[in-house]
Amino acid sequence: MPKVMKIAVVGIGVAGAYLMNRLGDDHDNHVVGFERMPSDQHDAVCAWATCDNVMSGLARNCGLNFEDYILHDGKQMRVDLADSDSKKDRIEIRLRGMVSYDKLGLIKDMIRGSDIRFGKAPRKDQLEGDFDIIVDSTGFHRNYLPRIADEFWIPCVQYKVRYDQEPFEDFYLKSFPSMSGYFWYFPLGNGYAHIGAGDFRKHHNQFVDEFLKKYPCEVIKKVGRPVRITPPASCEPFTDGNKTVGVGESIGTVYPLLGEGIIPSTWCADLFVKNINDIAAYRQAVIDKFKIYSLVFKFIQMKIAGRFSMARNALDMLKIYLHMKSQQDRYGMQIRMMDMLKVSRA
Ligand SMILES: Cc1cc2nc3c(=O)[nH]c(=O)nc-3n(C[C@H](O)[C@H](O)[C@H](O)COP(=O)(O)OP(=O)(O)OC[C@H]3O[C@@H](n4cnc5c(N)ncnc54)[C@H](O)[C@@H]3O)c2cc1C
Repeated sequence: MPKVMKIAVVGIGVAGAYLMNRLGDDHDNHVVGFERMPSDQHDAVCAWATCDNVMSGLARNCGLNFEDYILHDGKQMRVDLADSDSKKDRIEIRLRGMVSYDKLGLIKDMIRGSDIRFGKAPRKDQLEGDFDIIVDSTGFHRNYLPRIADEFWIPCVQYKVRYDQEPFEDFYLKSFPSMSGYFWYFPLGNGYAHIGAGDFRKHHNQFVDEFLKKYPCEVIKKVGRPVRITPPASCEPFTDGNKTVGVGESIGTVYPLLGEGIIPSTWCADLFVKNINDIAAYRQAVIDKFKIYSLVFKFIQMKIAGRFSMARNALDMLKIYLHMKSQQDRYGMQIRMMDMLKVSRA
């Protein structure tokens, strides 16, 4: 590798912002960021829910205090299962660190002072002439890497809204039949909330429209984009064999059960920072770190296809349960077998 490495970070979401901050600290690097949206339209399309316990450390790595960005600190999340509103088909999950936060604010502070060209989605051949490494942190788009053979993604729609009288005080989810997706209501403080849904079977718009009719509010913004839930092991190649390397959702770092990508994508960026001089080691670190995602993805696929059987797949489910149970603080919620069984029967 050359002494001063010229690095292009393309896509300034959570992964790209973390990279700009961490790689920019090293004076042996010359780092330039590219973001396709103009600076005044730069957004973080996402419901902004994450886990305080993990994000605190990642923000600290960037010299920032995560507590400053928290909008709502969750205590209890209600989950309604499938088509029912009845109490017996409801789970109440005790939260242990799940929060909503100002995701865009944190991204902006992570990139403060760095060289970012907004409103630019440069061509790969233009970048190849000027840079030693090109990071594809374009999330779902994965514009700079080879296409993935068997893609699995969930289309989503989301509204930012404001209520005078909020319909829920805390986090709320409603799962869709066969776990093909879910509806979310995530409070953002002061009457604001993100309301949205993602559904493999594409009923998400209908469900959100019905909710907005039932609970009228001021709509501030509507966005939509899919979330990739194909796990990293099925998102190879992570590189184009030349100068480009994928980081974040572009290589599938989204926990498939929840569609949760903020922490995994920032972890992925951290793995890249640690292994920047050895891309083979980076690839292996990503595969190892997100190994369980392949099993969780298989579980979701079987549920959606109606092929899940408690008798045949009990061991897989037990493994997923034990994984989440052992990492309750990472997921920011209490994990109970009873809840897992209810969800998987839904
Ligand atoms: C509706 C919705 C709600 C979600 N809610 C949550 C949640 O509450 N919690 C959670 O943990 N996860 C959530 N996720 C998932 C999470 O948002 C993503 O997995 C995570 O943000 C991925 O981070 P990233 O940095 O890899 O990509 P992104 O955050 O998607 O960032 C990619 C960036 O690249 C830019 N870009 C794209 N193409 C180009 C190009 N050609 N050139 C230059 N720039 C480009 C984009 O404008 C964007 O700024 C949600 C996803 C969706 C769709």
